[in-house]
Amino acid sequence: MKIAILSQDPSLYSTKRLKEAGEKQGHEMRVINYLRCYMNITSLRPSVFYNGKPLEDFDAIIPRIGASKTFYGTAVVRQFEVMGVFSMNESQAISRSRDKLRCLQILAREGIGLPVTGFAHATQDIDGLIEIVGGAPLVIKLLEGTQGIGVVLAETYQAAKSVIEAFRNLDANILVQEYIKEAQGSDIRCFVVSGKVIAAMKRQGAKGEFRSNLHRGGQAEQIRLTPEERSTAVRAAKAMGLRVAGVDLLRSNHGPVVVEVNSSPGLEGIETVTGIDVAGKIIEFIEKNAAVGATRDRIQY
Ligand code: ADP
Ligand code: MG
Repeated sequence: MKIAILSQDPSLYSTKRLKEAGEKQGHEMRVINYLRCYMNITSLRPSVFYNGKPLEDFDAIIPRIGASKTFYGTAVVRQFEVMGVFSMNESQAISRSRDKLRCLQILAREGIGLPVTGFAHATQDIDGLIEIVGGAPLVIKLLEGTQGIGVVLAETYQAAKSVIEAFRNLDANILVQEYIKEAQGSDIRCFVVSGKVIAAMKRQGAKGEFRSNLHRGGQAEQIRLTPEERSTAVRAAKAMGLRVAGVDLLRSNHGPVVVEVNSSPGLEGIETVTGIDVAGKIIEFIEKNAAVGATRDRIQY
């Protein structure tokens, strides 16, 4: 098969590993910087151009769209979809997962466990917002943050109030969330491929840090999931319409709660910690499904 990896940087671990895993199976792998692609929007012969030439005959694409490039990145993915090319994750599902509020609303509709969450833009009623989540301590998040940036723990009512006020003045959309203290600064990354958790790890934040992101100095180790955690992760990926997803869970007193569903989960941490050939499993999934083609996003929101 001829497979394109849409990535800004061929030297990234995930990009390299996917290319390597595809080549090992005898596929022709090409890394395409989607920001350099341009397109003709036409119903007659839609194409994606790259370095002056149309990208033709691809059987599948693997989108690795950076969080800050979602708008253009998903447009390129959509164009490939219009051309009938199979995408590992579809453009709709990627856009959907990038918006934390939309993500939580969809998961809530499916009855999936979530931290109690409030959402606001310019409310005058800060007390009311804080009350929704049961008071301080609580977590405040900017709607489109990533790698732990824009996630704040407010330990007291006063701290919560000042942070919410500050964000309000920045004209930002914010989530206010129940603080899952019992998670003790750790979360669980479940790597889901095609309806199965193929690898999982527990990430522990650096000392004194409640955010477990590896980018924030967290440490990871392999972990065994409970059946409930496993099914929560699988249901969350399915609800988002993602065939490949990194579902992040917290172990709360009221069972596993989903904090985030990632459409371009990194491979480095999970492969290093678990020793599992995650890239190989992704290629295998594409081999089995790309041929069938005609997979369409069926989620309504
Ligand atoms: P980002 O997209 O920036 O990674 P997350 O929502 O995943 O933002 O939050 C970053 C980290 O902060 C999580 O991995 C988790 O360790 C911690 N965290 C987030 N929300 C909560 C919460 N409600 N209670 C406890 N810890 C949380
Ligand atoms: Mg996260």
